[in-house]
Amino acid sequence: MKSQVEIYDTTLRDGSQGEGINFSVADKLRIAERLDAFGIHFIEGGWPGSNPKDLEFFKLAARCKWRNAKIAAFSMTRRKGVAVERDDLMRQILEAKTPVVTIVGKTWLLHVTEVLRASPDENLAMIGDTIRFLKDHRKIVFYDAEHSFDGFKGEPEYALATWQAAEKAGADGVILCDTNGGCLPGEVARITAIAKGKLNCPVGIHTHDDCGVGVANALAAIEAGATQVQGTINGYGERTGNCNLTSVIPLLHFKLKKTGVPAKSLPKLKELSEFVDEIANVRHNSRQPWVGATAFAHKGGMHVHAIGRVARSYEHIEPEAIGNSRRVLISDMSGRTNILMKANELGFKLKPDTAELKAITARVKELENAGYEYEAAEGSLALLIGRTLKQRALKFTIETYHVSMRRDARESICEATVRVRVGEKLHHEVAEGDGPVNALDGALRAALGKSFPKLKKITLTDYKVRILDSATGTAAKTRVLIQSSDGEREWGTVGVSENIIEASLQALVDSMEFALLKK
Ligand SMILES: [Zn+2]
Repeated sequence: MKSQVEIYDTTLRDGSQGEGINFSVADKLRIAERLDAFGIHFIEGGWPGSNPKDLEFFKLAARCKWRNAKIAAFSMTRRKGVAVERDDLMRQILEAKTPVVTIVGKTWLLHVTEVLRASPDENLAMIGDTIRFLKDHRKIVFYDAEHSFDGFKGEPEYALATWQAAEKAGADGVILCDTNGGCLPGEVARITAIAKGKLNCPVGIHTHDDCGVGVANALAAIEAGATQVQGTINGYGERTGNCNLTSVIPLLHFKLKKTGVPAKSLPKLKELSEFVDEIANVRHNSRQPWVGATAFAHKGGMHVHAIGRVARSYEHIEPEAIGNSRRVLISDMSGRTNILMKANELGFKLKPDTAELKAITARVKELENAGYEYEAAEGSLALLIGRTLKQRALKFTIETYHVSMRRDARESICEATVRVRVGEKLHHEVAEGDGPVNALDGALRAALGKSFPKLKKITLTDYKVRILDSATGTAAKTRVLIQSSDGEREWGTVGVSENIIEASLQALVDSMEFALLKK
């Protein structure tokens, strides 16, 4: 079945113009393969005229088998005063050998006369000549009408004339672009409806997020009749970014009830978003709508109580529908339901309205009050629940430890000694490290490793320190959050003390103990 709205991805072109985004040719191919598998209709690979990397991408892409997507190359209208067939841009775009070519051209008279310094008629000829030339070469041609809305607001007759010039030359779609990202949904809807009324060819929409309404503007255009939407995964792009396809895709499906990508792809949306972040080496935005880690995280006790009964009471959609999941957060705002749901999530069999549940909730509040934080420390929380339920006995105890630091002319060295009791056995170990915590971690691992070889696999992946009451200066309380991994899963643990080493040790001990709990 033909989609009602076609998805045109420009992550690899417009998206790569975002600050901090840089793709190698191999990165681009990997992303394009994922987009193709996901069911994206068009993938814009780059601008062959702008750099050799993009030409290389198109050379390799031409040899790939694309299951769903058509690859598009981007360029602009022929240069002023140059015959189209003699323009280098056209030679380069044909060399890219893509089935689709997208051409950007001017709509706004301000740009035509002041920036391009061409006459209004010359600009119309540049649009027409370029599209006709590419149609003669049997390309699918989309015309990206730059500054469509700003241009239309300035000089509506001329803006329309540029779009009609593209249509007359055979464009397969006129894409209205809010290039500066300054328009509002109402204007976008109004002008898109006018364009739809005056053009016979399909109309598309390309928006930017400068006012925080990139996605809203795209939706407004779609509701006014646009049948192609251009954007990027995770909203990468120049300045504040492009219209975010990880929002547009589920919005189309779940809210506007229009067909876009195949329905079976939707549960893979979060995975796609994370994959592209990983390739771009960008930290995943946890607050991203739909696919962020916090998109279905509940903290307020009243909310958690309600979703425990009816999930949709505080969720606009089932998180699994787009591959996300519900999370219950534990904090001093938590009610008993938070603790109950979290305990069951962690594998404890805890019942509502029991003395144990009351005791655990009271203990969590007490510790949170003392500076502990369990939101990112579910390892420590599991141990706390286990201890209260007396379901789990501590497998080791630290009898003594000592940390020292010395510095000579060349370097500073930290040394830690730890004495650990495991049943009847005593292990005594010494280790050096870059810093006191690193040395302590080494000594603890060496001591425990003898009785618990599986701890050798555990690595620290993150270590965060936060001073809690900075007004008391160096005597302030310190909270340490540690993130550990056994290669398969990660868990967080927490420690609090006036002494940073003591706080770190608590978090380290919890991390190892939690690792021993797991099968
Ligand atoms: Zn753009």
